[in-house]
Amino acid sequence: MGFDIEKIRGQFPILQRTVGDKRLIYLDNTATSQTPASVVGNITSLYEHTKANVHRGVHTLSQEATDLQEHTRRKVRDYINAESVEEVIFTRGTTEAINLVASSFGDRFRDGDEIILTVMEHHANIVPWQLLQRHKDIKLRVVDINDKGELDLEQYKGYFNDRTAFASFTHISNVLGTVNPVKDMIRFAREHGVPVLVDGAQASPHLRIDVKDLDCDFYVFSSHKMYGPTGVGVLYGKRGWLESMPPYQGGGEMIKHVSFEGTTFAELPFKFEAGTPDFIDIAAFSKALDFLEETGLDKIRRHEEELLVYTTERLLEIPGVKIYGEASEKSAVISFNVGEIHNYDIGLLLDKLGVAVRTGHHCAQPLMERLGIPGTVRASFAAYNTQEEADIFIAALKRVAAMF
Ligand code: PLP
Repeated sequence: MGFDIEKIRGQFPILQRTVGDKRLIYLDNTATSQTPASVVGNITSLYEHTKANVHRGVHTLSQEATDLQEHTRRKVRDYINAESVEEVIFTRGTTEAINLVASSFGDRFRDGDEIILTVMEHHANIVPWQLLQRHKDIKLRVVDINDKGELDLEQYKGYFNDRTAFASFTHISNVLGTVNPVKDMIRFAREHGVPVLVDGAQASPHLRIDVKDLDCDFYVFSSHKMYGPTGVGVLYGKRGWLESMPPYQGGGEMIKHVSFEGTTFAELPFKFEAGTPDFIDIAAFSKALDFLEETGLDKIRRHEEELLVYTTERLLEIPGVKIYGEASEKSAVISFNVGEIHNYDIGLLLDKLGVAVRTGHHCAQPLMERLGIPGTVRASFAAYNTQEEADIFIAALKRVAAMF
């Protein structure tokens, strides 16, 4: 089966809307992707027919809701090829998953330990490690990039020493689009006995993730960037680590027995899922995974790559355009500036023409500082974007550039 773009677009009701009197051209997929009717319909149906708290009741609705949540957990396990459902923890998103690991795994770090990050990290993979520095004298070692926006792997390797306690890096940069050679990076860390977290927020909607093949210790991602509902994320962790880590939050659901003398904790994965989870959205996330599987990740990737190449070429025809991120392995994200025009002005004017792009620092201020700029305009593509939309975007950008 080919890639039937009209059939795909037909599944996303939001693409029919207008902005002002203009057709919506949605190119902010890196921030969040749109959601197919199958997911939206499922959420409505769950609220109308199956809403009951999970893992608590003996009654039918509670059993059904629990089954649906655990069905998604099995789907996620299969989607990322995890060994078991115990290794799949539901969180509110990538951010919470990284905070969980930094806080809980970070418990074992000692003064003088070093953590390796990269300059292209999203704030979600910087600040949680900095919070640890309030209590421990740990050092962050930051891997630089070259002019194309690729990681300096020699520097990465040079950072490993006997104080290296952890490495945490993104699979794909949300600004540069760089696809990092994470498998090689993990192998190197493994040779030095250093555990690794991979921030998969930008990779999970575009690449096939196989945590066994990657051999990562932790892998994290968000449903809302994968055509799924908001408020749901996943922390994959190797069972051995998860078992040895203390709970992140305390409350209902994560305990075995509570008394004022002491509390024992539930087995995995529930030990890390305190309180009522976002069970409706977790259940509906399975429909987003269905969408990805049915559409075909490989086909989506190829389609997005074509849009990336096409749009990049057309963009570079516009005088003054500078693109940030020219890695040989690149995802369909284009960050750019046009001459001295402020990224915010470009974003505002493009919006008047119906084109939704992101502007600013993209939660990557250290990267902006490294690039010596306050921000960029960012256009990013998903399965439902078309070449015609790319043309409309380019034409709109030409109009905007001509105004200055
Ligand atoms: N990491 C990367 C690379 C991202 O692009 C994002 C969001 O844009 C995040 C982490 C944070 O994801 P969330 O806000 O869903 O927790």
